[in-house]
Amino acid sequence: MRGVPEILSDIHSQKAAYAAARETETTLQLEGRSTAIVGLQDELSQFIAKDGIACPQCSTEEDIAMPHGMIRCEPYRQGSKKVPALFEVGCLRCPARSQAYTPEAAVTRWNAKEYDL
Ligand SMILES: [Zn+2]
Repeated sequence: MRGVPEILSDIHSQKAAYAAARETETTLQLEGRSTAIVGLQDELSQFIAKDGIACPQCSTEEDIAMPHGMIRCEPYRQGSKKVPALFEVGCLRCPARSQAYTPEAAVTRWNAKEYDL
């Protein structure tokens, strides 16, 4: 399975390609590019939130609310300092969310119900 850097790199290059094609491609072609970007974002979300339990506050027997994963802040440099990525696992239906500097740590906090509200 691909990791966060590979998926993020694809998202960045697909977004750049979309921006470059905006003036020259048809709406249908651009929709295809947009769908591909959404697919990559879903892949990233599933990768980050994998092993996360369903939201205990929003899930019922018939309706399971699986957590969503995202990068709250991408890694960047501030002068000579490297600021790490901030990952978040959360519910799309309620404010429950858990943040950490690795996907695994965010899932561990989420599963332990350590929420950042
Ligand atoms: Zn919830």
